[in-house]
Amino acid sequence: MILIKSASELEAMRRVNQMTARVRNAVAAYVKPGITTLELGNLAQKMIREMGGTSAFYGYYGFPGQICVSINDEVVHGIPGRRIIQEGDLVSIDTGVSFGGFVGDTATTAVAGKIDGEKQRLLDVTQAALAAGIAKAVEGNRIGDISHAIQTVVEEAGFSIVRDFVGHGIGKEMHEDPQIPNFGKPGRGPKLKAGMTLSIEPMVNLGAEKVRVLDDQWTVVTKDGSPSAHFEHTVAIGKTKAEILTLPQRTPSLF
Ligand code: MG
Repeated sequence: MILIKSASELEAMRRVNQMTARVRNAVAAYVKPGITTLELGNLAQKMIREMGGTSAFYGYYGFPGQICVSINDEVVHGIPGRRIIQEGDLVSIDTGVSFGGFVGDTATTAVAGKIDGEKQRLLDVTQAALAAGIAKAVEGNRIGDISHAIQTVVEEAGFSIVRDFVGHGIGKEMHEDPQIPNFGKPGRGPKLKAGMTLSIEPMVNLGAEKVRVLDDQWTVVTKDGSPSAHFEHTVAIGKTKAEILTLPQRTPSLF
């Protein structure tokens, strides 16, 4: 069942997703060659604590990290640890925060130092695919419209969509109905209604679409070793456009 959030629930979703976006941005800005992925996890933990929240990922099915940090061929669910970030790495930062009974979820892929043109194109296309999906996240459309828009942008660029992991509804739980595949046919799937809140998250591989899970039971990597990118926003469906809950809002000034 896809839950429609009330006005007060949407307000709580705005609050927690703003917190989550702040952590995402701070951690992404901290990415540089020479630091460990655990330093990124520790920064996230400190920020989440200071804001009075908790990591939505830590302990989720036993996940041992505060955030997910996934480098190069790692697609998602990388565990912060002793790995040292190198010049030219693509570093996906996926952040989940619980606060006030609701969950925020957002991801970005940051860059350590300089990257080559093909990796940059992978980042640009993945963000464009996310934007195309969000543009379809309006009342009256269907989940398949979001899925198809994402797939089209990715495949026209010559990259491939990861099929084993998908976006999702979100609210009091991190993973609610519906699932949001990053591939599919327009006009199919559940109908969108204002007040639904969805996490849309294309995972895009420079090479082939197949992935596998490492021996740590968490880290998902591309089978062919090619780099992968991941961007995620949590949105609220609106009547004419989606509200992106994980875009940082400017603090209103009194003057
Ligand atoms: Mg998610």
